[in-house]
Amino acid sequence: MTGSEVLQEVAAQVSACTRCELHFSRKLAVPGEGPANAELMFIGEGPGFHENEQGRPFVGPAGQFLEELLAGIGLQRQQVFITNVVKCRPPANRDPQFEELQSCSDYLELQVQAISPKVIITLGRFSLARFLPNAKISEMHGQAVRVRGRLVVPMYHPAAALHQPSLRPVVVSDFARLPEWMAKAGNIPEMQTEASLSEKQDQHSEQLSLF
Ligand code: URA
Repeated sequence: MTGSEVLQEVAAQVSACTRCELHFSRKLAVPGEGPANAELMFIGEGPGFHENEQGRPFVGPAGQFLEELLAGIGLQRQQVFITNVVKCRPPANRDPQFEELQSCSDYLELQVQAISPKVIITLGRFSLARFLPNAKISEMHGQAVRVRGRLVVPMYHPAAALHQPSLRPVVVSDFARLPEWMAKAGNIPEMQTEASLSEKQDQHSEQLSLF
């Protein structure tokens, strides 16, 4: 299967998914969108009101800000892959729960494997926690770390910057460093977290497959 075939299959499965409670209240699932050969992959938290209506990620105010940030480094949203840790809207935009994150986890992993982006940008704490469960966003934002072979740059969620104006220049300057991290991507060593050390032991585990 090619990368884009995998992405299409994941999108089809997400759209019909009933693995967790969120499917009862969603209008449309939001698998994510972007090219299979994207060098940058953005992972947010979960669909909000507008995303649930349209079935597309980051189409509300946070999405508009994300597009401005991308334009600031000369990119359009069509050039990057954008998705979330949970693919269905949590009611009233509450935090995603552990079971919901677990239920969606394989979909995200398949997307990451299919795209194999140069850099993954985590937007907000739930997305960061997937790669670095104990990290604090206030300490890690804007830095690049290699986790389980993937180069990850944690960032504040664009919605956080909309609610807290003092974060806006921080997000803008973290974004401005992305071209630098892309250029250096091959030279950043693996971070030795407890999780990465124990993962090494089952490095030979089979590739994930939902199909
Ligand atoms: N916030 C997110 O985390 N994801 C979206 O898709 C929209 C807003």
